[in-house]
Amino acid sequence: MNQDIEIEDLLEDLVTFRRDIHANPELAYKEVKTAEKVADSLREIGLDVTTGVGKTGVVGSLKVGNSSRSIGLRADMDALPIVEETGLPYASCHHGVFHGCGHDGHTTMLLGAARHLARTRNFDGTVHFIFQPAEEGEAGAKAMIDDGLFERFPCDRVYAFHNWPDLPAGTISTRCGPIMAAADKFSIQVKGKGGHAAVPHQTPDAILAASELVSQLNTIVSRRISPTSTAVLSVTQISGGNSHNVLPSSVSLTGTVRTFDPHVQDLIEAAVRQVITGVSVATGTQISIDYQRYYPATINASVAAEHALMVAKRVGNAVEAPEPAFTSEDFAFMLQACEGAYVWVGQGTSGEHIPLHHPGYDFNDGIIATGVKLHVALVEDFLPSNSGSTQENDLIDHAKQQNVSCCQR
Ligand SMILES: [Zn+2]
Ligand SMILES: [Zn+2]
Repeated sequence: MNQDIEIEDLLEDLVTFRRDIHANPELAYKEVKTAEKVADSLREIGLDVTTGVGKTGVVGSLKVGNSSRSIGLRADMDALPIVEETGLPYASCHHGVFHGCGHDGHTTMLLGAARHLARTRNFDGTVHFIFQPAEEGEAGAKAMIDDGLFERFPCDRVYAFHNWPDLPAGTISTRCGPIMAAADKFSIQVKGKGGHAAVPHQTPDAILAASELVSQLNTIVSRRISPTSTAVLSVTQISGGNSHNVLPSSVSLTGTVRTFDPHVQDLIEAAVRQVITGVSVATGTQISIDYQRYYPATINASVAAEHALMVAKRVGNAVEAPEPAFTSEDFAFMLQACEGAYVWVGQGTSGEHIPLHHPGYDFNDGIIATGVKLHVALVEDFLPSNSGSTQENDLIDHAKQQNVSCCQR
């Protein structure tokens, strides 16, 4: 096995590619030019390329040897509706569209791995390089699955990386079980009647009802959920009224719920509905809700997370993540369909900490090498070119000997 993955000669090109994608960002399901650039690059190196999977998704497939085993590697391609404030020479050319989550970097790292693997071919099996659209709230992963992703490109294992500003560059981290939260969103409409503010007894007060809702909703996690469970409920938007002397006829609220356990998710949704019924009765208002579960929790398979951590030791500083994050990720859908793991690749520098989705954020080109090497190492270890010992096999053997799953050790 190639312990020392040489990719340095690819790096200059990859940085240029990343900055070009950064300067030309595209929103969910509009990644037409990005997908074209990706598909062209994959064709150039001889891969079988399928475009239009889940609208703008691209899959490049590389088969080497005779093994029927296969692995999927996913990168996301979409940008965010944010006005960039980095002042970089390669800043976004499209005002209000910005790679503020580093998906330009993910796309580049996966393309780098494809280039390296197409050249070295040091594995036996099939690699599917999955470039997905619309991770930012539009479920591009689900769109690809609904378009037959895993039937058309069967995978025995699937991995995805996300750059992680909270971790220093060179650190690679993941965990068994939940790693990212399920995300629900709700939108509440409170209807009163509307009237003069000087005669409040003549109209149900939608403002007061909305205020009561905010207070009561904020008690759900602390008073309705077991202290040993984890959840977040945030009311994030409230609007209504436009004058000092008019009671508005309606007020709207929106918010989000984050959980890791479907049972807790059910409890919270039920409690939200109960609060609404109660406040409606108490205030005489009519309250309706649109409650949507848009991303499930991202749950890593133990064997895949352990495998990633063991392989990551060859590439960087591998650290088991002590806890999941409350942000969400549509790779969750892929993990429901295929065994795999989601991995954080540290990208922090010693300078100012700038989080994901901040207008001053930029992907750290210094971690492209780490990402490429980790992709390559996972492929070479999961699809060994000779049937010798791999860390994946060692891991399974060890678990069998101990008669425990990896995460119980
Ligand atoms: Zn994001
Ligand atoms: Zn992201």
